[in-house]
Amino acid sequence: MAARTARIVSATGVRRVFGSTAVLDGIDLAIAKGEVVALLGASGSGKSTLLRILAGLDEEATGEFTTRGSQAVVFQEHRLLPWKRVADNVALGVRGKDAAVRAATALTEVGLADRARAWPAELSGGQSQRVAFARALVREPDLLLLDEPFGALDALTRLRMQALFGRLHAHHGFAALLVTHDVDEALLLADRLLVLDAGRIAEEIDVDLPRPRAVDAPGFGALRRKL
Ligand code: ADP
Ligand code: MG
Repeated sequence: MAARTARIVSATGVRRVFGSTAVLDGIDLAIAKGEVVALLGASGSGKSTLLRILAGLDEEATGEFTTRGSQAVVFQEHRLLPWKRVADNVALGVRGKDAAVRAATALTEVGLADRARAWPAELSGGQSQRVAFARALVREPDLLLLDEPFGALDALTRLRMQALFGRLHAHHGFAALLVTHDVDEALLLADRLLVLDAGRIAEEIDVDLPRPRAVDAPGFGALRRKL
């Protein structure tokens, strides 16, 4: 990474112990402004733990880690408030007189302008996750932390959500840490892949493919075979 590139995430020697097990045992990580980094690793390798640390949700971690600017988190489950309408869920945490307008704009961006008055229970899984993205975007985050955001969706909906993510990133330019166990998703969306294993970043792969990407694009298969 060029020294002049602004860093949104800087982490050095991050360690997290549960009981007698160091789940994270010396993680170094830097994410530049606008960069999408995918975090891969087997189940239980500590991906969510690292994401929670960066989100400020884990007070027991040690090491140095800072994030710059504003951030928003999207989890695998949408975590919408069932007693608030879709638009009100999106406007949560947005201050000012234009909160409703900004929420409407964000809903339009994720293709759900017509569901603003709906209740979360009336939405499909994919629609709910679109609302979760709108709720994150409305805060204009410098950093998006995503924990398997498409993991609970069926294959077709996942493809559509991946395409949506690509468009949103092209438009907003946020930096992102995308936790996923889907190698193709990582190669489609990320600038760089990190593989977590035994508490460390075991592998790092740069993805120098033009966007938008497709799984049958030249160079895609070669990168996949590296993993
Ligand atoms: P991943 O997201 O890669 O599947 P996690 O970060 O959720 O993995 O978990 C990594 C390891 O840490 C697992 O073995 C898990 O059981 C353990 N772990 C996570 N959170 C806790 C906790 N609050 N207390 C005890 N163990 C935990
Ligand atoms: Mg996890």
